[in-house]
Amino acid sequence: MSAVDSNVKYTDTHIVSQYSYQTTSVQRDGNKVTPRTTEMTFRTERRVPRLGVMLVGWGGNNGTTVTAAVLANKLGLTWRTNTGVKKANYYGSLLQASTVCLGTGVEGEVNVPICDLLPMVHPNDIVFDGWDISSMDLGRAMERAQVLDWSLQEQLRPHLSQMKPRPSIYIPDFIAANQESRADNVLTGSIAEQVEQVRADIRDFRQSSGVDKVIVLWTANTERFCDVIPGVNDKAKNLLAAIQAGAEVSPSTLFAVASILEGCAYINGSPQNTFVPGAIELAVQNGVFIGGDDFKSGQTKVKSVLVDFLVSSGIKPTSIVSYNHLGNNDGKNLSAPQQFRSKEISKSNVVDDMVHSNSILYQPGEKPDHCVVIKYVPRVGDSKRAMDEYTSEIMMGGTNTIAMHNTCEDSLLATPIMLDLVILTELCQRITVRPQGEEDFQSFHSVLALLSFLCKAPLVPSGTPVINAFFRQRAAIENIMRACLGLPPQSHMLLEHKLQ
Ligand code: NAD
Repeated sequence: MSAVDSNVKYTDTHIVSQYSYQTTSVQRDGNKVTPRTTEMTFRTERRVPRLGVMLVGWGGNNGTTVTAAVLANKLGLTWRTNTGVKKANYYGSLLQASTVCLGTGVEGEVNVPICDLLPMVHPNDIVFDGWDISSMDLGRAMERAQVLDWSLQEQLRPHLSQMKPRPSIYIPDFIAANQESRADNVLTGSIAEQVEQVRADIRDFRQSSGVDKVIVLWTANTERFCDVIPGVNDKAKNLLAAIQAGAEVSPSTLFAVASILEGCAYINGSPQNTFVPGAIELAVQNGVFIGGDDFKSGQTKVKSVLVDFLVSSGIKPTSIVSYNHLGNNDGKNLSAPQQFRSKEISKSNVVDDMVHSNSILYQPGEKPDHCVVIKYVPRVGDSKRAMDEYTSEIMMGGTNTIAMHNTCEDSLLATPIMLDLVILTELCQRITVRPQGEEDFQSFHSVLALLSFLCKAPLVPSGTPVINAFFRQRAAIENIMRACLGLPPQSHMLLEHKLQ
């Protein structure tokens, strides 16, 4: 897309925009409210690099599905099911399959795909590689996942069976014991040597595939939480020393360290606390993006919409009860108590910001009861069932109960989110901002909070607000992209239609 506006300039290398960032500063509980404007220059590199994505857990349901789906799109595949001919697409991707209202033209609103706003990687061009503790090639692993229709699998298998995950770091204590039988593709040697091997793998992939940039995404099994221990993982230097000393560090944190040291952004698609303070500090020191945690794909996504709707309508949710059952390997791993606990924690804080925002409905410290149950039922495979009950207090002591049932292929919801995560991260690597009066352009903070829309438990820089509310998260992405083009945020005021 080419914006034509006095606020934006296209050079050979950059899109440079002038932007008035308007905020409101409030002091003393609303006694003094001051609008503020900061002039800023946004600069977006125009050259879209060739992107390589390395998946930890490449042979899992998500890993195989994202690889297969991208290939199916790239090859323009179609296949027959008993309901007709299906065609590969990117439904569920914010960037590829949703639109934003650019403005108003003679024929009314003009909506464009988000991916047309700024130069960004197309998913078809992503090159995949990765690691798995299971040695199965991607063709057989796709079959094991039982996600895609068989006639599509048959077309993809010749391509996918050429792909083999690299041996990975396996520390049995971190994932459920029921995963052990998969682990036939594991690195050996000291922890420090294994981290070195992962770093060598990243360099090898970069070189052999010819990609310009690599992003590493954890889509392996959910690990148990690890303790944050002073002297071990609380500081970057302690974490590096702990790895050398062979102290207990989770595989996901070891992958994060390896990626950061290779200058590669690292995203955590699972709920565990990979980003211990030492890992965050290491990312900041190296100016590398990290993001997470836990893909926001189904039940939590609905929650971040529904509670936003209730609380912002002045209705008071008093209890939220969520049951899930699923039968894929993720469900099997989550049937172990410590791994379930990680998921429970990641799902539990999702309503906090909405509850805190409304002191008419909630007294300080008051929250709705919130219960999350996950059960493993092999028969349903990747077709996850989620049942939710939202009970709210309405006017004059009345009660409103909303019950929901949601069935979907889990990995087909996660796949477009994985693509959005890496594409948005890559785009953010090309955006810098210079507030007026400052000399240098700055990048976003290493903890890339803009990914919140795609994550169940958003990781944000220490001391900054966590936003879970769905439409606020989406507006942040849309409006930052608009700022890169020198366009004002969408206010939805539509005054041109509301005045006489
Ligand atoms: P999966 O069990 O099918 O795949 C995980 C893969 O990771 C397996 O192939 C396993 O062998 C591998 N693995 C485990 N430990 C490893 C290690 N240390 N190194 C390399 N590989 C390792 O699970 P999935 O359905 O693909 O989900 C992956 C993760 O994404 C899970 O943690 C899940 O909780 C999370 N997640 C999934 C969704 C969704 O909608 N599918 C949503 C949110 C989060």
